[in-house]
Amino acid sequence: MTRSANKGPPLGAHVSVAGGLEKALPRGEELGCTAIQIFVKSQRSWQAKPLADEQVAAFREARSSSPIAFVVAHASYLINLAATDAEKLAKSRRALSDELDRCAALGLDGLVLHPGAHLGKGEEVGIERIARSLDAVLGPRDEGSPKVLLENTAGQGTVLGYRFEQLAAILQQTDCRASLGVCLDTCHAFAAGYPLHQPSGVGETLERFDEAVGLESLVCFHLNDSKQPFAARKDRHENLGNGEIGAGAFASLVNEPRLASVPMILETPTGDDNEGYREDLALLRSFL
Ligand SMILES: [Zn+2]
Ligand SMILES: [Zn+2]
Repeated sequence: MTRSANKGPPLGAHVSVAGGLEKALPRGEELGCTAIQIFVKSQRSWQAKPLADEQVAAFREARSSSPIAFVVAHASYLINLAATDAEKLAKSRRALSDELDRCAALGLDGLVLHPGAHLGKGEEVGIERIARSLDAVLGPRDEGSPKVLLENTAGQGTVLGYRFEQLAAILQQTDCRASLGVCLDTCHAFAAGYPLHQPSGVGETLERFDEAVGLESLVCFHLNDSKQPFAARKDRHENLGNGEIGAGAFASLVNEPRLASVPMILETPTGDDNEGYREDLALLRSFL
């Protein structure tokens, strides 16, 4: 077989914002990224100071001259749009709104969000609650607001979004479908029982996603191998080719014509001085 001329999809990694949000761009560029993910506030706390005008200006300035065309943020892990406690639910909605404000100020392409956990109330109730929360947060926002990208999950505990049909149900039950997209995480899909380790696994998984949600809603990927075995419903990321999924799935993904413009972002162990990312990106490029 001849090597294709296809240069493949935008590739990148979740990079640190240590020292300032704008530092993420040179960090990504140094790795050769054309897409990155960042945090726009601390992931483990509810509160954060508003972004200063200078922070926003520095970020936009760094981005204007960067080859990194696609930048998303990952929302705080504390947010649960299906929270059963009224105060927790209100806090979650406020926190999501605040993160979207930050993303809008910075001009980001989307905000990746774990849909939520039903905490024992059942999947149907949880999905309904998430849809209502998304309406409450997204309804009042401008059309130009960055999209919320629902991420599929590994299905640990009572977490929702581990079946593509659950993502589809959330999307169908909101009134703000146009403000939503999906981020597909390979480790989570594998953990949830999508057989990416099998030779036909990528094709089969994409078919199932297309049937349930529609490939046109797929905005980006998280490329992660899995430390945990197939269908374990456990979320432990591994460097590409070193885990239970194996390199083959990633070779298929970066060469899939239908995904040629879908950014693919690593969340694998970074190793010392990002050596983990460097090796993973080199592996991906070697497949093209
Ligand atoms: Zn992810
Ligand atoms: Zn994960």
